[in-house]
Amino acid sequence: MSKNPLKQPVRRAATVVSLIAIFLLLPVTAWGKNFTPDVRPGKGVTEQYKLSRYFSPLKGTNMDTDVFVLDSGKPGATGLLIGGTHGNELAGSVAALVALENAVVTNGKLIVIPYTNLSAQSVADTRNKVSRQHLVRSRSGDRYLPYGDRRTDPADQGSEDPEKYINPGGYVLENGKEARNLNRTYPGKSDGTRTEQLSYALIALIRQEQVDFSLDMHEADTPERDKPDDDYRPGGNKRLSYTLVAHPRGLEMAAFALLAMEEDTGISLKLEESNPKYRGLSHLEIGNATNSLSFLSESPNPGQDRWRSDGDVINEPKYPLTHRVGLHLRLFKHLAEAFVVYHGKVLKIEKLPEYSELMAADIGQFLN
Ligand SMILES: [Zn+2]
Repeated sequence: MSKNPLKQPVRRAATVVSLIAIFLLLPVTAWGKNFTPDVRPGKGVTEQYKLSRYFSPLKGTNMDTDVFVLDSGKPGATGLLIGGTHGNELAGSVAALVALENAVVTNGKLIVIPYTNLSAQSVADTRNKVSRQHLVRSRSGDRYLPYGDRRTDPADQGSEDPEKYINPGGYVLENGKEARNLNRTYPGKSDGTRTEQLSYALIALIRQEQVDFSLDMHEADTPERDKPDDDYRPGGNKRLSYTLVAHPRGLEMAAFALLAMEEDTGISLKLEESNPKYRGLSHLEIGNATNSLSFLSESPNPGQDRWRSDGDVINEPKYPLTHRVGLHLRLFKHLAEAFVVYHGKVLKIEKLPEYSELMAADIGQFLN
């Protein structure tokens, strides 16, 4: 008697919605084992190859990530941009993408790795359950940016997590899962776990390519808190974002870059020196194991705040992705300029967006 005339269209709409949902989910299921991220190199990229070039046991594994080279063909400094050490720290990977999809190097050589721990990128975020992919409007249309997990997929590690993890430097981590945290396994081990082999391969790249300086780009919780005691929540660290950590040999150069950074972007970053006690971290171990000056940057990611359930990792008004990507890229440029002052070798990068250009647009406008 009371047939609802709206019922049919509603049901049809629901079917359409679920079909769309299935189509949206398809790429997610296609990810996983042989995860191939969407990277669209620009004109400045002169070579692309796999990291296993430096350590062949990685060949065919889910750790064998792509390396991109922008070589001017002219002498100068060699810089390395490391994105995606942690798969849930989007800005580092996207900064690397913006570099390799836009930059042209006119002196020296730039090496870019956007998804350094490819395995961590291939699985979903286990901490805050941030969505697996994020739609942006790129220069060529819709494009999805992947969001992964902090650690290597257990299926790719080649061994069970230990109860406690003793890293190659002999430092003991109470949480055995940290054996799969790339930024605890440096300088790596040729006969170690897959994650230790990954850091071993990265060190081999830095040695063979004679990298002069490297920046490992990370993200941390934002400085925002929901309660005054938010700092004391397990895993929360409000003091990490807006930090540049420098190997002791790179400290002066870092201080110089931070002054220029503040003038350029208005962003003021804390400077920290690598603590020699905490072994296994890139900024300490790369500088110790090679001639490269190593740095690590931290931007604020709303997706990592434990108190948010739905942190917007692209458009959050106070911490948009453009701000975070600009932080890493401009910092790298200022480190390159500081390298000339202190070490006399030039890495000249053109066509990298200015911080103000990034802030005036959407991130997709800087992606192919
Ligand atoms: Zn990190």
